[in-house]
Parts: sequence; C-alpha cells; structure tokens
Amino acid sequence: FAKGPEAQAVLDGIHSQFQLPTETLSELTGQFLEEFKVGLGNYNHPMAMIPTFVTGVPDGTETGTFLALDLGGTNMRVCEVVLHGDKTFTLRQQKYKVSTALKTGEATALFDYLADSVDAFLTSHPPTDPPVGRGNPLEPTPDVVHLGLTFSFPVEQTALDSGKILTWTKGFSAKHAIGNDVVKLLQDAFDRKHMHVKCVALVNDTVGALLSRSYTAGGCVLGAIFGTGTNGAYVEDLSNIRKLANDPAASRGGLMVVNTEWGAFNNSRSHLPSTPFDNGLDRLSINPSFQAFEKMISGMYLGEITRNILLSLVDAAPKSLLFGGKTTPALNAQWGFDTSVMSGVEEAWEGKDSKNDNGGNPVPQLSDFGSPEKLDPTVKAKLERIRAVLVKELAFAEADVSLRDAAIVKWASSLVARRAALLSGVAVATVLIQTGRAVLSGQEGKPTKNEPKIGVGVDGSLIEFYPHFEATLRESLRTLVGEEVEKRVDIGMAKDGSGVGAALCALQAIKSM
Ligand code: ADP
Repeated sequence: FAKGPEAQAVLDGIHSQFQLPTETLSELTGQFLEEFKVGLGNYNHPMAMIPTFVTGVPDGTETGTFLALDLGGTNMRVCEVVLHGDKTFTLRQQKYKVSTALKTGEATALFDYLADSVDAFLTSHPPTDPPVGRGNPLEPTPDVVHLGLTFSFPVEQTALDSGKILTWTKGFSAKHAIGNDVVKLLQDAFDRKHMHVKCVALVNDTVGALLSRSYTAGGCVLGAIFGTGTNGAYVEDLSNIRKLANDPAASRGGLMVVNTEWGAFNNSRSHLPSTPFDNGLDRLSINPSFQAFEKMISGMYLGEITRNILLSLVDAAPKSLLFGGKTTPALNAQWGFDTSVMSGVEEAWEGKDSKNDNGGNPVPQLSDFGSPEKLDPTVKAKLERIRAVLVKELAFAEADVSLRDAAIVKWASSLVARRAALLSGVAVATVLIQTGRAVLSGQEGKPTKNEPKIGVGVDGSLIEFYPHFEATLRESLRTLVGEEVEKRVDIGMAKDGSGVGAALCALQAIKSM
C-alpha cells in the first residue's frame, strides 16, 4: 500500500482539494466585492469596512517630528519619527515587554504602563534636532509632544483621534477597556502623570502600512498585512462609504481610508473551498467559524493546516505514508509546526541560487522513491537539506526521515502556501476592481483609472520571507485582472509601517486642528 497506486491516490486526492481553478478565484472575487459593498453600507457586518477618518495619503513631502506608540504584537514599541520631507525618515525606537499580568489586569494599569514607557523613552532618547514636538511649524502649543497610536485591535473609530475598543484579541483581556475610547484611556494616563504628551491620532497597522509606503513611494492605494494575521486598508471615495452618509465627515466629499478587516471574509462559511484539514484547525481554534479567510492565508495558521495534512499521512491506513508512522512531540502538538518551518523547508529545496520558480509543485511520485540511489543527484541534495531542517525543527531522529518523507513535506508545504498566496491575490484584485483600477477578467467594461503605477504597501513575515509568496500572489492577479494591470502593480515593503504611519497620521491630525 505505502508505494502502490492506493497510496499515490491519497496524495493526489489531497492535492486536488487544494487547487483553485480560475473559475473559483473569479467567483471568490465576485463574492468579495459583494461583501465590500455590504460592509460599506452597514455596521456590524463581518467585512467591517471601518472608516478611519484618514482623508488622504502622503506624497513624501511631509515634514515633522512625532512620537509613535505601537500596541498589538508581542512587544510594545515607542518610537520617535522624523519625517524629512524628501520621502525619507529617521526612526529611533525602543521595545518594551507587556507582561501577561498587564495584558489581563485592569486597563488603567496597562495604560499607566504605556505612559511610563513613553516617559522612559523620552528620558533615554533625548529629542533629536528638531526636538520632538518642538520646532514643528504646525505645532499649536510648542511644549506639547504629539503622538500617534497604532492600536491593532478591533476598534469602532469615530474620528481621527477617537475610537471605542470593541474586543480584545491576541491574548489581551484587560478589564474595563471594552467599550471605552482607547485614545482617552491613553491620554488620561499621560495626564495622571502630568506628561506633556498629546495623543492626536489612532491608526490600525494596515493604515500604517498604507501611509508609510505612500510616503516613501510618493503614493499608494492599498496597505496590506500578511503576517500573524491578514488584513488590508485602501483609499475609497467617501461617497461610496454609505454608512457615513449622515456623518459630517461625508459632507466634505473626497477620499477616506477604509480598514476592510478582510480576514473575516466567509464568516458565513459558504464560499471558500475548505478541506478537512481546514475544518480540523477551525474546530480547535479559539474562534471557530470566524476569520475563515485569515485561517487559509496567514502565518498563524498555515503551519497548522500543513501539520494536519502530515498527521493524516502518518495515520494513513492500512499502512502509514509518512515518517514510518512515527511522530514527535512538536508534530503532535497543536501549533507545533510553525509556518516559518514551511518557509525553511522551501528554502532548503531551492538552495542559494534558486530562480523564482517552484516548478509548479507536482505531487511526489511514490514510485520514484523505490530505489533512492537512482534519484537525480540535484534532487537528492535538495531532499537531504530538507531532511536536515525536519530533524532540527521537529526533533526527529535522522533515521526516521526518509528522502521520500522530505519530498512529501515539501509538497504539502507548497500546497498550503500556494493556496494562501492565490487567495491573497483575490483580496488585492478586489481592491483594484472596487477602486476602478481593474475589471474582473471576462467581464464587460473598462477601468476608470489608469495610473502608470499602482502602489501597494505590504508588511508581515509571510510576504517578506516566504519563498514565491509574492510571485504566486501576482500569478493570481494576472488571472483575475489581466497582465497589463498586474504589471503596473508596484508591491513594496512598508518599512517601519506602524511607527511612520502613526507619525503621518498625527501630522494629518494636527493639520486639521
Ligand atoms: P506580526 O504580524 O505579529 O506583526 P510577523 O509579520 O513577524 O508579525 O508575522 C509573524 C508570523 O509569521 C508568525 O505566524 C510566523 O509563523 C510567521 N513567520 C515567521 N517567520 C517566517 C518566515 N521566515 N517565513 C514565513 N512565515 C514566517
């Protein structure tokens, strides 16, 4: 069985479940567009389409010195950002640990800690020239230091400088915070300590990516995160944000950045072609049936989907198809196989002088491994490198990982990552179509905008480090909106997005004061 046609059929069957034919990608894009439209008209829709009150993007000529505070990842960061006005900036930062006690205790204690950290930063990083918050021509009160807050939790934003905390995520659960204005919680903490710091802007990390890329590239239409989670923010016509129709902000017309919260696509579980491996992950997750799109795409989950595939092969009956039926504590543990290991496996396959091509990730042909000495020496060397990664990362004994096992793990990793990147292309294509920059392939009509360059700022370890992720995302874009548009899409890392974005947002806030 382990070598015969039945065994091969098991791999082929899994392979086909992860394929996304053109029709499926197009259908998903159509459904994504529908969700965008519903979210722009309604509150409390899973695709939240949150108005951010950011009414334009920078062009690189902005100047000023600001503080930024970033809360939402493993560490909290305080930085000083100097915008030079020539698309460049200088950034000095310090990371501070946020203990579990602070994450789960009283909100006032958490915000007092944030204020103390800003105070410590100002002491340890004496203001550069021009000094923080001073020497700024836009400064209304020269003694006050202006700060932008990047807060990457769900917030119902009501102005550039206010927003109600809706829920905590990522291990935070501080009491008496939900329902309160996060800017006020922080400002009250600054005021309790008589600090001359004023929080003037609140931004999400996606908005930060959009603004910072726009500053360094001289324009940008979409900021997207492909890291622990996935999300995107883009520039929308205010007239399309129908749920703001009665807000004074809407009467001015023009543009506004919308935070899509696209990770929630398919919360109704009807569109995405999920596999038993996705369903297993979802069932055991802390938020079953929520964030379905994110669960197929982002770094937190890809390793777990792959682990589920690998375990199903270890457990295959009547005879194991992987690792001779053995596992290790890491492979047995939920979340025990990190997405970075998949990345490591793919890098090992490629070697140093790889081309940007993964050869289409064919299903390993088990019959090729009947006599491993006959394997092509280049392939053998690649598989040996993968074996070394698995021995190191999963704590297998070397004898327990055959070259065939290595080939199967490489295939499973590529299978899951490739689907993620193709689906990421669906989200990007949706934004291009929604903003009139593209038309879905096969549909009537012409784009209304034809800029030579369509700026997309991205951040996150997945897009930065995972081999072929961007190339595969682009393949999806070519399928969905055609090569002519795809070629004009300029994808670039949003360097220090949360810090620089918060500073740019703070500048916009004080300009409108
Ligand atoms: P965050 O999104 O929290 O700001 P990152 O962008 O670093 O942080 O994303 C962290 C996620 O990226 C984790 O889920 C991790 O599994 C994944 N990751 C870390 N390193 C890599 C890598 N080299 N290749 C692919 N994914 C990675």
